[in-house]
Amino acid sequence: MKMWDENRIDSYRHQGLRKALIQGLRDKGINDERVLDALMAVPRHYFFDPEFDDIAYEDRAFPISANQTISQPYTVAFQTSLLNVKPGDRVLEIGTGSGYQSAVLLEMGAYVITIERQHELFLELNRFPYIAKIPKSRLKRFFGDGFIGSHSFAPFDKIIITCGAPIVPPKLIEQLKTGGVIVIPLAEDEHHKMLRLTKNEDGSYETETFSNFSFVPMLPGTQTL
Ligand code: SAH
Repeated sequence: MKMWDENRIDSYRHQGLRKALIQGLRDKGINDERVLDALMAVPRHYFFDPEFDDIAYEDRAFPISANQTISQPYTVAFQTSLLNVKPGDRVLEIGTGSGYQSAVLLEMGAYVITIERQHELFLELNRFPYIAKIPKSRLKRFFGDGFIGSHSFAPFDKIIITCGAPIVPPKLIEQLKTGGVIVIPLAEDEHHKMLRLTKNEDGSYETETFSNFSFVPMLPGTQTL
């Protein structure tokens, strides 16, 4: 179990490490200022056990509970840039994990509906002050299967999948507004190629693909210990 410390602080040292991380992301080609501002605003170390404070500001993925990972900052920045989040957008996230990606979307002014299939991870976030303080009107969290999405909260302006999917789940395309965007890593050999799908008025869609990433797999159903 994680030992969340209610008194965690965002020190000048943390902020300095975060600034250096953001500069590193710029050097790697991330240039969406709104995304970079959001990553600067969210203390990533709050999503780690205290002993991993410094690692939180390295540009890499890191293990969390239930054999899952918190995505690499570059990946979060890349996916969020593709999503082109506007304040007021209703965004569905598949794969809540640590809650970090949700926090970045919230920071950009989105209303976030997020689904996690691992019960352990779903419960753990209840003990996490950063996420716990967010008003329920801005963030809805569900334990469930992302292949099914959330019929009751559809339609969505944007959908982001943060696990490597075998296909674009048809239900998620149905739950997307016309003109809406899905950003999804699709499994291909050892890697995942990033796909951006934009839905047309007649229900068809355009796709663009981007370079290789690596994700934990999107699995069907739910898992309870
Ligand atoms: N967005 C997360 C990334 C976590 S890793 C973060 O910022 O930390 C991806 C997550 O997707 C894992 O927690 C995994 O359990 C979850 N996942 C995998 N398949 C899923 C599915 N079908 N529905 C919902 N969540 C799923």
